[in-house]
Amino acid sequence: MAAGNGEASAIRVFYALVLAPELRPPIGDIARDTARRVHGRPVPPENLHLTLAFIGDIARSRLPTLLDVGASLHGEAMSLLLDRLGGFRRAGVAWLGASRPPHELGAFAVALARALAAAGVQCDERPFHPHMTIVRRCRVSPDEQQIGPYAWAIDEFALLQSQSGTEGARYRSLSKWPLTVLPPLPGA
Ligand code: ATP
Ligand code: MG
Repeated sequence: MAAGNGEASAIRVFYALVLAPELRPPIGDIARDTARRVHGRPVPPENLHLTLAFIGDIARSRLPTLLDVGASLHGEAMSLLLDRLGGFRRAGVAWLGASRPPHELGAFAVALARALAAAGVQCDERPFHPHMTIVRRCRVSPDEQQIGPYAWAIDEFALLQSQSGTEGARYRSLSKWPLTVLPPLPGA
């Protein structure tokens, strides 16, 4: 790699579901209140998302492959009921999750992981545990509890670039694709 070229040639990216704009105020409030309780830093409302597949640093030249993978997927629209708040103690984060995630969500994450593997893109291979981080740098871990519920209508997914800044990470949408409502099966 040519000296000084590193920053421009590598990008940090991940596929995610970006929280619907109408849920940003209420979930943003929960993030702020929780951050106060656990002495952490709330995730800014515009950053709230659920990661589907984390790629990490990758050569910018592979971006067309990532865009092709996104465009090749046919996922279903779904509703996710956010009804749990908890914490990952070691990671020092608080999250929101769903006690009953729709089967379409896990199926879509698996399809994405397979498509990435088929395209020769390495990604985090840990099992998919859907969660939305709402607070970072928690000094205490919140006890798991019931919240809401908040119904999140999910009809698109995105490829995001993560850029670190002095105020924490900022995400830039590189592309997004629709998740569609399937027509009912004939005779159903
Ligand atoms: P920062 O790391 O600057 O505090 P961040 O964690 O939001 O901010 P990234 O580290 O770029 O930014 O992560 C982007 C998304 O991918 C986040 O949802 C993060 O939780 C998730 N993520 C990061 N690293 C991994 C990993 N190794 N495996 C799975 N998901 C990851
Ligand atoms: Mg991180």
